[in-house]
Amino acid sequence: MNSVLRIGEEGATAERVRPVVTAMVEELRRRTPRMLGFPANLAWDASYAHSLLSMMINNAGDPSTHDDSGNDAKAFEQAVLSWFTDIAGGGRDTYGYVTASGSEGILFGLFVARHRFPRAPVYLSADAHHSVRKAAAILRMETVTVPCRDDGTMEPAALARLCHEARRTKGGRSADGAVVVATIGTVMRGAVDDLPALRAAGSQAGGVHLHADAALGGLVAAFSRPEPAWNLAHGADSLSVSGHKLLGCPVPCGIVLTPRRFVPPQPTGQYLGADDHTLGCSRSGLAAALLWCRLREMGTRGLRETVARCQQTAQYATEALAAAGARPERFPGSLTVTFDRPDSSTCATWHLATQGDRAHLVAMPHVTPQAVDMLCADLGRGH
Ligand SMILES: *Cc1c(COP(=O)(O)O)cnc(C)c1O
Repeated sequence: MNSVLRIGEEGATAERVRPVVTAMVEELRRRTPRMLGFPANLAWDASYAHSLLSMMINNAGDPSTHDDSGNDAKAFEQAVLSWFTDIAGGGRDTYGYVTASGSEGILFGLFVARHRFPRAPVYLSADAHHSVRKAAAILRMETVTVPCRDDGTMEPAALARLCHEARRTKGGRSADGAVVVATIGTVMRGAVDDLPALRAAGSQAGGVHLHADAALGGLVAAFSRPEPAWNLAHGADSLSVSGHKLLGCPVPCGIVLTPRRFVPPQPTGQYLGADDHTLGCSRSGLAAALLWCRLREMGTRGLRETVARCQQTAQYATEALAAAGARPERFPGSLTVTFDRPDSSTCATWHLATQGDRAHLVAMPHVTPQAVDMLCADLGRGH
């Protein structure tokens, strides 16, 4: 361990701690222009909101219920949820909260789904995020992997076959139903699953709960023209988004939404003085307030323009990588561009994510055409 980081018996003053933190942030900032491979927007500086760090802010329990502690930012959280509910096609009866991450939103979605269909397996695509399997394991739900089509989307015909089979082998017993996790923007290829087709396929098992894992791709889909089916109005029963990916909230967080009637009843601690249907109970008021700052600053139009600009960068990267002979592929509208995996030093220099013989870049707001050109130059040099 770096000795300046060692925590000892004697405390240090803020004056001695501050330069260590400043140096760490400066080092991260130096790397930013070359961070092309991961879906985090590193272009937003929220340091003007530093007063949020001057006290502990805890949004304990449900966003909509008062709690007795008084040190919450639930008004900000409610404003964020109201905006997201509109964007995600939720009705007036939509329940939601700011989660610790997109993955917590997946766990909550499966928790809701299991309450509706206690014996249903989780159908997920081969390209689903690993957090889906983790959530299923925590909830002790069986998983069934559905193959993908060539473009990286879950194959609806295969899902229909598996669901039909499951129902048939139950020997005429009433169907257990299906919990289907659709991915709106897969991790590696940015593929958007076909929600209406998956809902129809899942109904072969009887009842269906369709969760949309829209961690990165939800906000991209929302502002794409044409807008693909991705949200609660398009057939999802629950939906999760990450708050630190496209939006670049400095604290990892997420949003989960589902109709209130699906939310399982939960024990409530009288001590808290608030209802609590969340998984976390204590939740980051800082994250909620920062998300609000971000959305309030950008407005819906600002976000729409950002998505359009990122899509242009992704298109630019596709053309530049093709010219460099790297055989790029891009799902329509996606910010993710896959290409032939370069050597390991190029992957390290540009912080590229890789899978098998492919790598990808993600055209986040801080990714510039100039950086893409420099990457392509490195590829050309046959590093
Ligand atoms: C990033 C991502 C997740 C996980 O979200 P976190 O906010 O990192 O927990 C889940 N699914 C997909 C498709 C993702 O891209």
